[in-house]
Amino acid sequence: MDDESICVTPSSVSLGGFASLGPATYRASTIVFENSESYRTRLDRGDDGYVYGLYGTPTTRFLEKQIAALERASRTFLVPSGQAANTLAMLAVLEPGNSVLISDSVYPPVRDFANNELKKLGVRVAFYPPTDLAALKTAMDSTTRLIWVESPGSTTMEVQDVRSIVALAHECGAVVGCDNTWATPFLFKPLEFGVDISVQALSKYANGHSDVLMGSISVRDPVLAAKIKGTIWRLGIGVSPDDCALVQRGLQTMSIRLTHSGAVATRMATWIATQPAVACVLHPALPGNPGHAFWARDFNGASGVFSVGLKNEVLPRLDDAFDSMRIFSIGASWGGTRSLIVPMNVNRLRSTPQSGEIETYLRISVGLESERELMADIRELFAKLQPPAPDAVSA
Ligand SMILES: *Cc1c(COP(=O)(O)O)cnc(C)c1O
Repeated sequence: MDDESICVTPSSVSLGGFASLGPATYRASTIVFENSESYRTRLDRGDDGYVYGLYGTPTTRFLEKQIAALERASRTFLVPSGQAANTLAMLAVLEPGNSVLISDSVYPPVRDFANNELKKLGVRVAFYPPTDLAALKTAMDSTTRLIWVESPGSTTMEVQDVRSIVALAHECGAVVGCDNTWATPFLFKPLEFGVDISVQALSKYANGHSDVLMGSISVRDPVLAAKIKGTIWRLGIGVSPDDCALVQRGLQTMSIRLTHSGAVATRMATWIATQPAVACVLHPALPGNPGHAFWARDFNGASGVFSVGLKNEVLPRLDDAFDSMRIFSIGASWGGTRSLIVPMNVNRLRSTPQSGEIETYLRISVGLESERELMADIRELFAKLQPPAPDAVSA
């Protein structure tokens, strides 16, 4: 071979005797074919066949198969973010004239997508109160094609009666999609409850290190799988094998991280509930949480994310109180090794009437730092939010 050709041709090395516990990372746009006949018939290679890098490499398939096994799905598709997983699932099943009913505590960018992109396509969009089955039933009609659940809901943490929602939907020929990011399939398996499409932001617990964006869409029904695959392919959506390798690495420790963060978060939430600055603690494992009974019936545990509704009178002290924290970081996209806290205002993001007048919630994601140091931060935060009354100090 001439030098120019040597430079662009990988040398052949023996793989004999080499075995590693980690899967290889295969990068490709081009996939080469052994002859012209196999190129001509490449689309007959089936769901797991390789035709072009955008549509999958052994590295993407490896992660798809692992997620599918956890979800008890027949097929999983990987997309570039959790938000893309939500929107592509919706686009795949909805047509002009259909209507979609979305839980009112849905991840806010999904509300924005539905109100703008779906409406532009002639899809009717409505939001239902997450724990009111009668209201959901009333909102359904012959045009309802998709019911979207997210359980627990973003920030307000309502746990939904997924079993009953599935029964209602299937009676009317609608499909049910579920954003299962909070629980991951380790704590809840939507497809086993009859949900048709289970979606996760792998950016959160699966990757688990706050440095990759990815989402998954998992289904059992082959007809639905073909629809979703068609939508993803036609829109030119794919994920990087390097990102898949990182998510795969994160997945290996997910169960241990979830179990630890869930236990610390539950203890933290229980302590926070005793604080005078608090109007409510929203954590699915606490008995007062909306839909707690469904969590107890359907889930295998709690992850590390929960919310705290603050009394409005403490809000003027919130910014200073945040400044006192040393371990918590302020930022979105939870589920990593580092604990996060953010103030959330949800009232603008709800279509159905809300009880109470809470303006601000703290959304807390517990990571893997020392529990003692995390609790010291939390104690400091709540001491700053609600200083003891002056006479109590002098007493
Ligand atoms: C974060 C999140 C998403 C979006 O995930 P990205 O990968 O950040 O796009 C979707 N749903 C829920 C419930 C989330 O918390």
